[in-house]
Amino acid sequence: MRKDFLVFGQPLIEQAEKDELLDSMDKAWLGTGPKVHQFEMDFAKYKQIDYAAAVNSCTAALHLACLSLGLEAGDEIITTPMTFCSTINAIIHAGAKPVLADIDPVTLNIDAAEIGEKITSRTRAVIVVHFAGRPCDMDAVMALAKSHNLAVIEDCAHAIETEYKGNKAGTIGDLGCFSFYATKNITTGEGGMIISRNERKISRIKIMALHGLSHDAWERYSDSGYKHYYVEEAGFKYNMMDLQAAIGIHQLRRIDAYWERRQKIWNRYMGDLKDLNIGLPAVAEKDTRHAYHLFTIRIDPDKVGISRDNFLEAMTERNIGVGVHYLSIPEHPYYRKRFSWRSEDFPHSYAVGRETVSLPISPKLTDRDVEDVIVAVRDIILKNQD
Ligand SMILES: *Cc1c(COP(=O)(O)O)cnc(C)c1O
Repeated sequence: MRKDFLVFGQPLIEQAEKDELLDSMDKAWLGTGPKVHQFEMDFAKYKQIDYAAAVNSCTAALHLACLSLGLEAGDEIITTPMTFCSTINAIIHAGAKPVLADIDPVTLNIDAAEIGEKITSRTRAVIVVHFAGRPCDMDAVMALAKSHNLAVIEDCAHAIETEYKGNKAGTIGDLGCFSFYATKNITTGEGGMIISRNERKISRIKIMALHGLSHDAWERYSDSGYKHYYVEEAGFKYNMMDLQAAIGIHQLRRIDAYWERRQKIWNRYMGDLKDLNIGLPAVAEKDTRHAYHLFTIRIDPDKVGISRDNFLEAMTERNIGVGVHYLSIPEHPYYRKRFSWRSEDFPHSYAVGRETVSLPISPKLTDRDVEDVIVAVRDIILKNQD
């Protein structure tokens, strides 16, 4: 058994990030400044889009994206029950009502037919989540959006590298939201980005991300003389710091190398676990690029003789960190109480949420780490299988 605990989702931080951080420290410019501006431009270039706004999390990005739709009380936004809570919270904080549409049990992405069932006269938008980095069925989603005049927000927290039929995730709908949280494909510790083809939307989002001020702090303290700022709206404190962008600029430069490393790990897991009685992720569809953010297996206790939660415990005992993405949204007491949701009404999300386990898949993993994960999974499953 391995001696040290393998932390789930650890990022790979290299020398260039450390040097860039020290540079910010030496210049004593820590807050929003030139590095944030550079990171926005680099990210927009990577996504082949004109406008990007850096913020301090994907949660902030989703909140501002929802606010940018100009919602009214009673408006509804449809999204998936197989997501992180912040997708739902962003809708709530924007003053809208979240409505859930179940997933396709194979792709784990929101099912467009289910979206169709949930559209009412109050529906204003859909938030899709490209789960694990696998693109949603965007042709079907965009067709529905067009025929019902709905906005589409893409929650790309798993999907920085994702592509769908030649289009980059986050550029297909109206707004794309990204996360640079510590466990995501590239990181700034905490951080997020919003992209759009709509210049006015991004410029309003930038104002809303910094108190609703007319000028950002960088311009305010420039050497071209003091500028008064004016509050145009009651905004938020969602700006990204140069300290965060310093890390992100260099992480972004290695995005393809990291993707290739995760693809290798993914393929290794697929090959070395395929004879076991567990569910493996569906293979990436043709004409798409999977971002390989999560490698999720399914533990059906009837097939393998061990419950999912006992499997999680057994992995942890073997010093392997694992994750659960996610318990379905209606399992959380707050949402159940507030929206009267029942898990059974979203049977595919419910079943996945009860059986899924995420194995480590990060560029920081050595071949030895990957081997340790495989040995641990095989050992636990084979011991219980018969
Ligand atoms: C991580 C995540 C978020 C939130 O990202 P933060 O940057 O931590 O706010 C939102 N949606 C999904 C699907 C995520 O995985």
